[in-house]
Amino acid sequence: MKTRIMIALLAIAAFTGCKTDKKASDNPFLTEYTTPFGVPPFDKIKAEHYIPAFEEGMKQQNEAIEAIVNNTEAPTFANTIEALENSGQLLAKVGAVFFNMTEAVSTDSLQNISEIISPKLTQHSDEIMMNAKLFEKVKAVYAQKDAPGLSGEQKMLLEDTYKSFVRSGANLNEEQKTKLKEINSKLSSLTIKYGQNLLADNNGYKLVIDKEADLAGLPEGVKAAAAEEAKNQNESGKWIFTLDRSSIFTFLTYSEKRDLRQKIYEEYATRCNHNNGTDNKGLIDSIINMRLAKAQILGYPTYAAYVLEENMSKNPENVFNLLNKLWTPAIAKAKAELADMQKLADKEGANIKLENWDWFYYAEKVRKEKYDLDEEMLRPYFKLENVVEGIFSTATKLYGLSFKERNDLPLYHPDAKTYEVFDTDGSHLGILYMDYHPRASKRGGAWCTSFRDAKKVDGKRIAPVVSIVCNFTKPAGDLPALLNFDEVETLFHEFGHGLHALLNQCTYTTTSNVPRDFVELPSQIMENWASEPEVMAVYARHYKTNEVIPQALVEKIKNSGTFNQGFATTEYLAASLLDMDYHTVAQPAKIDVASFEKAAMDKIGLIPQILPRYRSTYFSHIFDGGYSAGYYGYIWAEVLDADAFKAFKETGNIFDQTKAKAFRTEVLEKGGSEDVMEMYKKFRGQEPAIDALLVKRGLI
Ligand SMILES: [Zn+2]
Repeated sequence: MKTRIMIALLAIAAFTGCKTDKKASDNPFLTEYTTPFGVPPFDKIKAEHYIPAFEEGMKQQNEAIEAIVNNTEAPTFANTIEALENSGQLLAKVGAVFFNMTEAVSTDSLQNISEIISPKLTQHSDEIMMNAKLFEKVKAVYAQKDAPGLSGEQKMLLEDTYKSFVRSGANLNEEQKTKLKEINSKLSSLTIKYGQNLLADNNGYKLVIDKEADLAGLPEGVKAAAAEEAKNQNESGKWIFTLDRSSIFTFLTYSEKRDLRQKIYEEYATRCNHNNGTDNKGLIDSIINMRLAKAQILGYPTYAAYVLEENMSKNPENVFNLLNKLWTPAIAKAKAELADMQKLADKEGANIKLENWDWFYYAEKVRKEKYDLDEEMLRPYFKLENVVEGIFSTATKLYGLSFKERNDLPLYHPDAKTYEVFDTDGSHLGILYMDYHPRASKRGGAWCTSFRDAKKVDGKRIAPVVSIVCNFTKPAGDLPALLNFDEVETLFHEFGHGLHALLNQCTYTTTSNVPRDFVELPSQIMENWASEPEVMAVYARHYKTNEVIPQALVEKIKNSGTFNQGFATTEYLAASLLDMDYHTVAQPAKIDVASFEKAAMDKIGLIPQILPRYRSTYFSHIFDGGYSAGYYGYIWAEVLDADAFKAFKETGNIFDQTKAKAFRTEVLEKGGSEDVMEMYKKFRGQEPAIDALLVKRGLI
């Protein structure tokens, strides 16, 4: 996921009155960074620097907008579109640090700043996007969009700029504009609150085990990590499991204590659904209704119609078509998986009807039985440092890149690491931060973001500063960080986003952005390399003996690739359809979250043993993460990535240089500077086909 503040804003110039020159010079955002490669000087940035820098950034952007509007020359691409694109640099600079810090090293004071500044930024953005005089100028340039002289990327920037004005309400009357601004500002506060509630509930629960007998079934490494967690939380001698996915799902997979599995799973599944101060149900009702109101003011029947117009999918019908096409084989496979597990439980004399907190435990047993593959047998081969080396070497073989760890760059947290990335010819390509392990101040999940996007100024490339943030299994006691295979794939995935950002050759920030349902192609395609024997031979080495993973284990990983995919596809599709149902609501009405979710799931025939991957009250992607009417994008992009990887496989060489070069130049370097379907076709020679995905997931 990528946080990006929209171009825009100000109107808060009055604030600057209390700022002295001395203070300004102390504020690292207000001078050029003097760090190596111009990375943010994290060691000098303090919480009190953000608001003055945001305020100054808004002021500077407002001045730039004023200059565009008051320019007496006829509007041109350079004096209007490009000038607007280049406004707001300070705002982008401070925003890129601030919004990443609120996710990776959040504190109460950063959360307070976020509450203060976010509505102001929204308002600032709205002021720009609804500035009638500015829009007149943009329109005048847009009217000549087919005149000669503009490059393809410039045409795209013009198109994007014009459309973003229209989509932000530039064509509305004054009354509608006021209404829309109110909605945007309220939505901004509501979505922040949603995320804060979720962080609070994630951190607010722990399963504390004080009897060794209650650890039955758990592998040694898992016990050690839980003991370490307890030690960190001043409960030495006990074991703690949390709602972080790496903690809870390991517990659910191995714990023989069914009552404890139920207990922690129910906590997980009812986050922000306790009718207390962190309940998200009321927020969801407000968010959905306000998004609908916003879409309708702008002339769209639903919020999904508004969002999807900008995507590769174009409209809700195309999304529902794909999801429904996949649903039938997915739920059929999930039911078959459940039947297999029930049979196994019966055979063992468990005398239970399987529930959703049993799925992971019995799936693991079936996996062992059918594939003789125990996740914990694999971990010793997936030492974090080795996996990172394997990922770097994959990038070297594909694109000729090289990586050198730096120890001289400021860090926002001592856990983070930094690398300089070099292109084939040894030139500097960018900087990469990596931050691997969970902590209370970090939100869950894994993501790739940047502290500075690549772009070109006067034809000269400004190199990006990219960051990958994860929540992987920590080192515990004498054990190094040993990942499970899911975490290995996640790291390849996020690194794929990283490559997309590092290789970007766009001139403009705006044209670097790709549609949401295309953005997962560069990341998901990288996951395919993770399980290739040729790649594993490089990185999957025993952490003690350095022995390469036995071929038999690699085979087993391959064979089990389609294992439990009925479940995985079903829980994912259920969440995607839930997202689409919320955002295709076409009439304003009070939303009762529990019954809405139930109706959505009953309609598709979801079985009780499976919940949507994210339920409404903790569906961060769609309620505070920018994936509203967009969660389907992962599988949309998976159609693309399966088809694209097939292109490599078809050559008989997963590092085929012709394909790698085409993927780099047609996809990774181009951002969204061309129509993405056209880009894809230039790489592949044809439109993507769905069959590679069905095969990969074992659904046909
Ligand atoms: Zn991703």
